[in-house]
Amino acid sequence: MSSTCVLPVLDCEVRVRARTAGSLKRFERARRTLAGGVSSGMRGHARPYPLFYRDGHGAYLTDVDGNSYLDFTLAWGPLILGHSPQVVCAALEQQLAHGFTFGAQHDLEYEFAERLVDLIPCADKVCFANSGTEIVQVALRLARAATGRLKHLKFEGHFHGWADSVMLSYHPSLEEIAGSSGLPIPVGAGQLPPDCALVAQWNDRASVEEMFAQHGGEIASLICEPLLANSGCIPPEPGFLEFLREITTRYGSLLIFDEVITGFRVHLEGAQGLYGVTPDLATYAKAVGAGMPLSILAGSSRYMDLIASGIVVHVGTLNGNPLALSGANATLQVLAHDHGEGLKKMGALGQRLRQGLESILRSRGLQVVTTGEGAVFHLAFMDHSPRNYRELLQQDSQLSSDFTLCMLAEGVLLMPDGRWYLSLAHTDADIDQALAAVGRAIN
Ligand code: PMP
Repeated sequence: MSSTCVLPVLDCEVRVRARTAGSLKRFERARRTLAGGVSSGMRGHARPYPLFYRDGHGAYLTDVDGNSYLDFTLAWGPLILGHSPQVVCAALEQQLAHGFTFGAQHDLEYEFAERLVDLIPCADKVCFANSGTEIVQVALRLARAATGRLKHLKFEGHFHGWADSVMLSYHPSLEEIAGSSGLPIPVGAGQLPPDCALVAQWNDRASVEEMFAQHGGEIASLICEPLLANSGCIPPEPGFLEFLREITTRYGSLLIFDEVITGFRVHLEGAQGLYGVTPDLATYAKAVGAGMPLSILAGSSRYMDLIASGIVVHVGTLNGNPLALSGANATLQVLAHDHGEGLKKMGALGQRLRQGLESILRSRGLQVVTTGEGAVFHLAFMDHSPRNYRELLQQDSQLSSDFTLCMLAEGVLLMPDGRWYLSLAHTDADIDQALAAVGRAIN
């Protein structure tokens, strides 16, 4: 079914433009001095143009024109407790009274590290940085140092930050794939040649086996999103993570789970707790800071002690700053309360939302599938659940984009790629509201 016959796209765009004049004015002004008018390139893809916000509370955002939105983007994942949660605000205020960064040691570093080590299955030790991009680089470096090898194997469609070594074969078009001869495809100009990377297909054992058969002695690590959140929220097929664990062990390579999205979102122990497979190293960011810039590397002493001894360099001016750690510590206390009961409720809410979306959209004659894990899932306009990024390319991405615009017109803010995030601030009433908005958007 074509997008134009089901969604009143033009009407939706006119409605959004009519009430967001203040955002457009600001976007035009920002573009004169701020490259692209946004601070992260992906935000620039918003239709009809990026909106400007002035307030966020709970599950709601208010833009500069005073429009309120029910938010399922949550700052692209971090806001696991919703916008400006009281408990985090209080922790930050308390810390601010004592200073926000020391560039030196303080109690929260080891106290928070102890909590993480108790929680994360693969963790004997942890270290801190500020973004997911940075901490992935530490993990890859550690693996190279531990194995004396140079290469890492990643999967097509998986995202591990914007560094040259991993921003490869992220969302290539079919034409790019056809022209690549199976080599990693840099996402943008100016990236270093992808000499140290190899690419395989998610949920495809043969493609992983082939890479190890050809390059096994050179592969320091295999890195993956254990739930492929950045391309369709595609879970590992049963046994696939176990297979990755086995083959990396067999070839003496490290298994790295990039839990930047799954970390403390899909389970209190992250995806490794949910799926029961323990990697050698795991990276965390986004939800662990609940909006504060914090990333974490967790791993066994065998590897982390390379940092401890100074053999592997891990440095950073703002690493472990007390402001970020106080926010993260307060967040973890909420998440861990009652053995992660809040996360379970949030997952159940996500499940209800998914079922509701599928049922309404299918009742309007649309082919849709949802994939994911409760509080992070993907809605794709296609007739079957994709196995990997290649299969996700079969989705109707124009219809998905039109749907996002029409939901915006109904006051519901969605990610541009079809991903939905829930927080502990979302309620049953919010789910009802979102589903009612879908009903109005497609009538
Ligand atoms: N890994 C994953 C799985 C991510 O989703 C992201 C960010 N979307 C990153 C790494 C990079 O994190 P950051 O944006 O904090 O650098």
